[in-house]
Amino acid sequence: MRFDVLTIFPDLLASPLEEGIIRRAIADRKVAVHIHNIRDYATDRQAMTDDRPFGGGEGMVMKPEPIAACLAAVREAAGGPGHVVLLSPQGRLYDQRGAEKLAARDHLVFLCGRYEGVDDRVRALFVDEEISIGDFILTGGELAAMVIIDSVTRLLPGVLGCADSASQDTFSRGLLKHPQFTRPREFEGIAVPEVLLSGDHAAIAEWRLVASVEQTIARRPDLMPQVRFSKAEEKLLRRHGLLEAVRALAGREAER
Ligand code: SAM
Repeated sequence: MRFDVLTIFPDLLASPLEEGIIRRAIADRKVAVHIHNIRDYATDRQAMTDDRPFGGGEGMVMKPEPIAACLAAVREAAGGPGHVVLLSPQGRLYDQRGAEKLAARDHLVFLCGRYEGVDDRVRALFVDEEISIGDFILTGGELAAMVIIDSVTRLLPGVLGCADSASQDTFSRGLLKHPQFTRPREFEGIAVPEVLLSGDHAAIAEWRLVASVEQTIARRPDLMPQVRFSKAEEKLLRRHGLLEAVRALAGREAER
């Protein structure tokens, strides 16, 4: 996977790439991350990348020409157009399904806005997709791009040490992950659930599924209608008195 990031603050992106799983993925050539300073493509003497908005009003808007020149250079170096993502609070809300879709591509180009955002002709001419990482306003798109790079990279084959740890994550099947414990067995008077110490794999799997469902119902009931259960799982949920709640939530959401 190749990532290109177009920004006027390239240093902001350096350190997250130098730690942990992302650093290792780069070292193992599973991903390549290229950061480009849009300012290098400004043509006037002050290397301006922004200007006042037509029609007046607060703030500055990022100019189209340096972005277009930077993107052309990226495309030439990469040997292809890439899938161009504009980070924007007005974009589609990012989630795990969005991460999975992006992970299926082989070249992503992120355009990071600053100030009041980017001249709209950039969006019209070059952008394939606008993504928001949440209903709040950041000062720029760099951290949003980094969130996406991080979440996409860990889905790529061979990046995570344990092959199936991504498939067990929260959201991977629509449920929140069950609570987890490590040593010591007791901490501040709270003991680890006995079943997790039993070595009985079937009982542990059952406890985890039940705990996942309980956790999701309590914290994110909006997720429940999308979750599909096998017949065997439904039987198990009925035994634990959860099936009615699961079905009621599915019905309530379907009515909306
Ligand atoms: N004036 C813009 C508006 O009201 O929609 C907000 C501009 S924001 C201060 C500057 C830049 O930060 C945006 O162009 C975008 O690249 C980035 N940004 C801000 N919030 C974001 C979010 N929730 N998700 C993704 N990018 C965001």
